[in-house]
Amino acid sequence: MNQAKLKPRTAASRKQRLQRILDALDLRYPNVTCALHHHDAWQLLVATILSAQCTDERVNMVTPGLFRRYPTIHDLAAAPVEEVASIIRSTGFFNNKAKNIVGAAQTILRDFNGQIPNTLEQLLTVPGAARKTANVVLGTAFSIPSGVVVDTHVARISQRLDLTRNTDPVKIERDLIALLPQSRWIQFSHQIIHFGRELCQARKPRCAHCPIEPDCFSKDKNYL
Ligand code: SF4
Repeated sequence: MNQAKLKPRTAASRKQRLQRILDALDLRYPNVTCALHHHDAWQLLVATILSAQCTDERVNMVTPGLFRRYPTIHDLAAAPVEEVASIIRSTGFFNNKAKNIVGAAQTILRDFNGQIPNTLEQLLTVPGAARKTANVVLGTAFSIPSGVVVDTHVARISQRLDLTRNTDPVKIERDLIALLPQSRWIQFSHQIIHFGRELCQARKPRCAHCPIEPDCFSKDKNYL
């Protein structure tokens, strides 16, 4: 049964509540990282482009074959887009994604001497790399906290936990950046994504097992 909770009213109590949430995530997910399999920043960039509107599991099934066929950035820069599209077909939006991956390889060779750029501004010039992709690559491959990755789990759970009232990912990220210490930006997303898969699922959150339940005011709790 969903029990009404009193929302903290003062800045101090809101800060304490946020700290309890972060502590609970640390306890449950101490060492989680990006679920996309990769060996280097280039592979992570490609996997992240492929992960748009697709599950990480599906991307992890596709990338080994893609990198076997095209092991280097040079190989993908020279690859026929239609051939790349046929390999990544099962990730959805495959024509656009193939164009972006080949374009990304060509851009990185042409503009960055074959090195994956490590600033947000530069990464945003790479085809297929929007803000979320850039944050994933910078955070996971370079340990640079450029922002907070907002995927569907982070968006949903940030709303449920009242860390944001926004629905637009850019605005949600802005709210999270304002709330969280920068040292937490990378890990928070990894932890929330695991939490969203395991417990705070979209349709039927498993609130009876949730370590954050006492601090959650969500209206769509589920105890069945
Ligand atoms: S109590 Fe339920 S809705 Fe709230 S964070 Fe936990 S699993 Fe999600």
